[in-house]
Amino acid sequence: MQPSSIAASVDFDRDGIQHGFLKMPFSRDDSAWGAVMIPITVVRNGSGPTVLFTGGNHGDEYEGPIALFDLAATLRAEEINGRAIIVPAMNYPAFEVGRRTSPIDGGNLNRVFPGRPDGTVTEKIADYFQRHLLPLADIVVDIHSGGRTLDFLPFAAIHVLDDAVQQERCRAAMAAFNAPYSLTLVELHSVGMYDSAAEEMGKVFVSTELGGGGGASAGTVAIAKRGVRNVLRHAGILAGDIEGGPSVKLDMPDPRCYVTSESNGLLEMCADLGVSVRAGQVIARVHPADRTGVAPVDYHAGIDGVLAGRHFPGLVKMGDFLALVAVVAP
Ligand code: ZN
Repeated sequence: MQPSSIAASVDFDRDGIQHGFLKMPFSRDDSAWGAVMIPITVVRNGSGPTVLFTGGNHGDEYEGPIALFDLAATLRAEEINGRAIIVPAMNYPAFEVGRRTSPIDGGNLNRVFPGRPDGTVTEKIADYFQRHLLPLADIVVDIHSGGRTLDFLPFAAIHVLDDAVQQERCRAAMAAFNAPYSLTLVELHSVGMYDSAAEEMGKVFVSTELGGGGGASAGTVAIAKRGVRNVLRHAGILAGDIEGGPSVKLDMPDPRCYVTSESNGLLEMCADLGVSVRAGQVIARVHPADRTGVAPVDYHAGIDGVLAGRHFPGLVKMGDFLALVAVVAP
């Protein structure tokens, strides 16, 4: 296999704390011999387990970058046993411009795994994680939020996996993250996802959706900051007990959880996040925005559950995700 064009300025096997970059040469009009510089921190002390933390997989989601820039600045090597690899803004070109996808190649990093060493900038980032960073990790935590177009209840999530032992280890790590909600889901389109790449390698993988709307609140940032340290405690890397209260378990049993818009117009949500809904209940209406006197189109919950996600902006288009209804599990 072709070598990666990315070089890390940190030594993953050295004890202590190192702040550096994943550096990828990127020649372009405004910087002929320039490079993409992705910030990375490695904190290591001894031969304990490794947690790989990532945020900014999508560039318009902020709880992950805030919590991970903070963790990188505050975690001390003396207080750990093992290693934390921290990449606060994984798709750095997208993060720099506050967009979900890369402004360089349009790449959605969470859809191009395993990537290519000779591919686009986004594919090269994926390839580096696939072949160089994921193999180093025992536990992988990838912090997402809704970004500019979605909003979610704050949840940590794992996938239903073929390997029951691996799934149980993921579940335990999700419980340790201790978001207010913990969701077990069947992924509908897992091809190309970072999640799938890590899971297929046998890693313990936890992702999150901690809010949305293209910003971050004090509450959701606090959940992320607490969650990353809780996972380090769970792994035995950091001493101390898991912090936080009970987490509501949610399931997404089938595709009826998702409601998709089949019309264009003005979105009126009829239920807010966290509210219980019944199958058949109107949860959203889309009003035609180009004329008066036309009735809105009603959208119904497909199952009984709790409203766990929604379209964020005020206008909606045909094909947009409208709402997610999750089932509260015992
Ligand atoms: Zn995301």
